[in-house]
Amino acid sequence: MNEQDCLQMRREIKDVSFATVDENGMPHSRIIDVMIVEENRLVFCTGRGKDFYRQLTVHPQVAISGLNRNWQMIRLTGAVKKLTEQKKWIDRIFEENPSMNDVYPGESRYILDPFAIESGNLEFFDLSTNPIYRQSFSFGESSLPEKGFRITERCIGCGKCRRNCPQQSIDAGKPFVIRQENCLHCGLCFENCPVQAIVRRGE
Ligand code: SF4
Ligand code: SF4
Repeated sequence: MNEQDCLQMRREIKDVSFATVDENGMPHSRIIDVMIVEENRLVFCTGRGKDFYRQLTVHPQVAISGLNRNWQMIRLTGAVKKLTEQKKWIDRIFEENPSMNDVYPGESRYILDPFAIESGNLEFFDLSTNPIYRQSFSFGESSLPEKGFRITERCIGCGKCRRNCPQQSIDAGKPFVIRQENCLHCGLCFENCPVQAIVRRGE
């Protein structure tokens, strides 16, 4: 799995939840189609009269999530930008997504503008395996923030975190180690370590 596989999986899910924030800071989400995925770029479109369009213009930061039939989730956060060459992109979107003609027949398609997400962070989260599996990527100019928890040298090796971890994702050692790819980020180990040896990553 790499960032392009993640983006392609997003395209295969097709109908995804797309969250924005409006000019008053209120969150909104709706289901939209991902129209084109290519070379670390995700392309979609919307009508210039829609609140969605206005929100994208005011706050270009967006969050997208989708789940496939296998209980595998892709999450993406990034910034959108409006694409130039509107007619070229809209024609291509309609060519690759013919059902769009039922919604916007004939020339009405040109009320739509094309947008792209060209940089951001992606997370693949697989709930179908035991333990769960997660993998994160950045694409474009984004850098990846560290999430979850890590165990520091303060660990005294008591094993409490390992015994109680709901995914058995902690290995014994000096110090004990969290397998990041199998961690839920639930915080149970963090809250219960007797010597506060567990800290949030990135802090
Ligand atoms: S609970 Fe804390 S001290 Fe005990 S093994 Fe885990 S990290 Fe180490
Ligand atoms: S955060 Fe939760 S899942 Fe992750 S290691 Fe700690 S207890 Fe286990």
